[in-house]
Amino acid sequence: THFGFENVPLGEKQAKVDDVFHKVAGRYDLMNDLMSAGLHRVWKEALLTALKPPRDRAFHHLDVAGGTGDVAFKVLEEGGPQTDVTVLDINAEMLAVGRERANKRFPEDERIRFVQGNAEELALPDNSFDAYTIAFGIRNVPRIEKALAEAYRVLKRGGRFLCLEFSHVDVPVLDKIYEAYSFNVIPPMGRMVTGESEPYQYLVESIRKFPRPQVFANMIADAGFRRASFTPMTGGVVALHSGWKL
Ligand code: SAM
Repeated sequence: THFGFENVPLGEKQAKVDDVFHKVAGRYDLMNDLMSAGLHRVWKEALLTALKPPRDRAFHHLDVAGGTGDVAFKVLEEGGPQTDVTVLDINAEMLAVGRERANKRFPEDERIRFVQGNAEELALPDNSFDAYTIAFGIRNVPRIEKALAEAYRVLKRGGRFLCLEFSHVDVPVLDKIYEAYSFNVIPPMGRMVTGESEPYQYLVESIRKFPRPQVFANMIADAGFRRASFTPMTGGVVALHSGWKL
């Protein structure tokens, strides 16, 4: 394509993704608010509602592609004193922003830790987490099946997998508006705020290429998860996928 991400070898795809988040880390949170008109907060809230971190018992949570910490902070706020969250991301700059935000919002809180790592190869023990979340991250991972297999491996039996990801709008009219917004508004807006439009072209392109929600739900089931289901939100702009390791 004109964006140059088609048919790139897997290693190169990850390198491009890393480059994108390296460039935007400092302005990532601002861009999220601008580009989604604040909706990413609503979508993450829906993730937390599905997750319901318990307040009265131990809860080991893993947030993969955790970026600047949004999901992790919500889990800490809603969970109890026995909740702990591991934020894993491949990108040191994103983690650095997350760590800084954590120090402000949860000073000296030992319930949160930041780990640099790859979703495809988690350096974490088997059967060790009660829940695994990944928000707007799996789309960036070159081998989605590997990431799903790793999610399954690190979860305990009874553990929950939840994934928020951009999906496909199939509502008439809204689909056209969404497409126009994606291709004509997002990249220029990205350039205005960060000085770069390529990362945002990448964003739009990667959304377009991501599997349809039923296909992705089948991939989650193929990784071994039970009761794989999804809930479209905002007319299909985003879907919340769920599965259980039973
Ligand atoms: N979860 C955060 C949120 O919802 O705001 C951040 C999402 S951001 C769009 C995608 C994140 O995925 C980036 O921080 C990027 O560094 C991370 N990422 C990309 N490839 C990854 C991989 N293979 N393993 C782990 N994280 C990855």
